[in-house]
Amino acid sequence: MDKTAIDIWEKVVDNLTLSIGNDSVNLWIKPLKPLSLAENVLTLSVPNIFFSQWIEKNQQYNIEQILSGLCSAQVKLEYKVQKDISPIIKTVENTPVHTDSPMPSIVKDQINPKLTFDRFVVGNSNRFAHGCAEAVAKNPGKQFNPLFIYGGVGLGKTHLLHAIGNSLKQQFPNFRILYVTCEKFVSEFIENIKSGSSDKISAFKNKYRNLDCLFIDDIQFLMGKDSSQEEFFNIFNTLKDGGKQIVIASDRPQNKLDQIEERLISRFKWGNTVDIQQPDLETRIAILRKKAEEEDFFVPDDVIIFIAKQIKSNIRELEGNLLRITSFIKFTNTPFTLDAVKTVLKDVVVPEEDIQITIEKIQQIVAEQHNLTIKDLKAKKRTAQFALPRQIAMYLARTMTDISTTEIGDSFGGRDHTTVMHACNKIKEKLESDPYFAALVNKIVKLIKTDDI
Ligand code: ADP
Ligand code: MG
Repeated sequence: MDKTAIDIWEKVVDNLTLSIGNDSVNLWIKPLKPLSLAENVLTLSVPNIFFSQWIEKNQQYNIEQILSGLCSAQVKLEYKVQKDISPIIKTVENTPVHTDSPMPSIVKDQINPKLTFDRFVVGNSNRFAHGCAEAVAKNPGKQFNPLFIYGGVGLGKTHLLHAIGNSLKQQFPNFRILYVTCEKFVSEFIENIKSGSSDKISAFKNKYRNLDCLFIDDIQFLMGKDSSQEEFFNIFNTLKDGGKQIVIASDRPQNKLDQIEERLISRFKWGNTVDIQQPDLETRIAILRKKAEEEDFFVPDDVIIFIAKQIKSNIRELEGNLLRITSFIKFTNTPFTLDAVKTVLKDVVVPEEDIQITIEKIQQIVAEQHNLTIKDLKAKKRTAQFALPRQIAMYLARTMTDISTTEIGDSFGGRDHTTVMHACNKIKEKLESDPYFAALVNKIVKLIKTDDI
């Protein structure tokens, strides 16, 4: 390489950084390398024609002006597409770029190498979601596009996104992959718009539109953000039309994504939609065993089962509490007994045998949660506002105590036991079909188990 060319080019890059900013320079300028400066022509090597076109359109004039100033002569730019320049192209994060990639992966993919399929425990609650995620990893852009995964907090949505990403990276090292939270997408978009710089905006657009696979997490964050929705709509269409894979995670199903345009919602339904439910006891035990194994820490079975029984709704909490226990045992050198564990977890755990669950307690908490009084639950009023909470309370009385349906009927204003049975069936069905309702009832159950009244 020509030493003068390198020196001059360094100055040009410094100059450009001031005028177009670091991001654009990293994205468009850093991958170019000066080859020679002769007869007032600076020849640059470019990874592909895509770069020279972009420079010609956006920065050529600017660069030539800077060059001419530096050399005190009219200097022109020329480009040479160079195939193997990977050793000199570095990404922002200093990882080498793949030589045969159509565009260097300047953008870091943000995939967490620890969240793999290997580390994902499959159970009834997530079997289908896991299967579809694996199918996408095997056949990106083909079968399920987009893949839309929804489910409550801490149930493994993000883990599955990264697992697909890791698998794709392994199989297709040249794939341009990006994991982004919707929140980051929105703030990045707004920042670029606010900057008013057309370079920044086009760099942003290019970054997203040239991907082979986009993972966007917590899409509910797009609710009410109209201009970001518009931008995402366009990105979605470009990727989908180009046969590129899109994977979306959401804390709710599509029809509960209020304030997101219908045209986007309908696109979210184009591919495949899967949900992740709360894990059953068996899966919770398997997850805890796996985590303990990964930490290389022996945890006795009774402890694993105890934690799994106490924490039902959230795998993150499950993990967090296991970590609390193992750290405590390690650092204090306490013998690993169930009693020690109960002491450490006393704030989250309520020993089942100590809880007194009565119909009155159930009625009080259900009433409070619905802004009603116990009297309302016992009264004859039949509108949904009263009937549903009453049925919930009957169901909980039946499932959380050993009290007979006849006695339960008596405690609800002298109703017949068949009314109680009907209520129980109805609530059971609703729990199975409506995850939001299930979450509400779970919350009530938790309160009943913990509230000291
Ligand atoms: P979400 O995105 O649904 O809120 P995450 O994917 O962040 O949940 O999961 C929370 C934590 O639980 C993470 O540490 C993740 O690795 C772990 N986790 C979730 N599901 C599983 C699973 N099936 N097997 C192993 N770990 C899991
Ligand atoms: Mg998540």
